[in-house]
Amino acid sequence: MTERIFMSRAHVTDVEEKYVLEALRSGWVAPLGPMVDRFEREIAERCGVDGALALSSGTAALHLALLDAGAGPGTAVVLPTMTFAASANAVAYTGANPVFVDSADDANVDIDLLVETVMTLQSEGQTVAAVMTVDLFGRCCDYTALGSRLDELGVPLIEDAAEALGATHHERPAGSFGRAAALSFNGNKIMTTSGGGMLLSNDKDMLDRARYLSTQARQPAPWYEHTEIGYNYRMSNILAALGIGQLERLDSMIARRREIRDLYAAALADVEGVTFLGRDQVGDAEDNHWLTCITIDPAVIAADPTTVMQELDAAGIEARHLWKPMHLQPIHATARAAINGRAEALFRTGLTLPSGSELTDAQIDRVLAVLVPRLQEPAA
Ligand SMILES: *Cc1c(COP(=O)(O)O)cnc(C)c1O
Repeated sequence: MTERIFMSRAHVTDVEEKYVLEALRSGWVAPLGPMVDRFEREIAERCGVDGALALSSGTAALHLALLDAGAGPGTAVVLPTMTFAASANAVAYTGANPVFVDSADDANVDIDLLVETVMTLQSEGQTVAAVMTVDLFGRCCDYTALGSRLDELGVPLIEDAAEALGATHHERPAGSFGRAAALSFNGNKIMTTSGGGMLLSNDKDMLDRARYLSTQARQPAPWYEHTEIGYNYRMSNILAALGIGQLERLDSMIARRREIRDLYAAALADVEGVTFLGRDQVGDAEDNHWLTCITIDPAVIAADPTTVMQELDAAGIEARHLWKPMHLQPIHATARAAINGRAEALFRTGLTLPSGSELTDAQIDRVLAVLVPRLQEPAA
């Protein structure tokens, strides 16, 4: 029996083991402690921001960022339709209405359409509490094109950088573009704490308030005093220790994911009808290479993504569709959306390949042995 090849699996070594053991032996087995403080400092430094708050998930970070921006019933939050459900779920937790915006060619949000959508909502007298951008599959949005256009409209930017830790845009790190940003350390992300997230900001008051809300909104009193509803969103010291070890190895994990993408690109260079998302449109030098995604042109290639996925699965290999756009999800059927058709086309033609940094060259060869012949069959 050959070993199953996963798409993006946690990659843990004795470096992490050492830190977790140290945390356990220190007695700090709680949702606070020296490893949490250190992990927050190191992530803030890596992302080029003044402060960070370690949380139980990236979704929790988005939720707190949205609350801070004033998202709530009667307000709108504008975000990409091409994203993981968590981005839109966090909006729903606040009671705000999500308004979805379609993609550019590289799957990231279409910046002009995004700004246009905010202006349309404002001209109708609606309050846009925030815009949330998502740095998809480990590649930053076009923040150069966005520039200060949201500032001019008086709308705060929240950056969902859950997939993009370690990526940059014009040498500026993912996580530094919004007035707040969210990272995820879920088990399938570029680095993991098994589950966890981080809220980033240069605004210390904002982080202090989020810290207070994340620990059940406890007032400074000698007893448990509460004047607001809070949340239990903090990260444990043990998991922060795992994160410190992972962060130490982040650059080597990014380098390996890049090598894996290079292997796919070399093997598929002559296969007509295959496009590498990001790499073939705008280049991927600044990506963290979290996931390698291709699109399969149905006019050129016989097989569609679902067929290829099934075939890979039969060979013990995990691959996935790109995120199914939020405006096509039953739960968001009545939500407003600015659509140009690109996200849907990317969803119909896109395929995410095994990309984990623990994968060996031999395992990538196994993927290619199934993939290449299938993609070489021409459409009728
Ligand atoms: C993973 C992810 C999240 C949520 O992070 P969790 O830590 O799993 O809560 C949010 N947004 C995007 C785009 C993600 O990929």
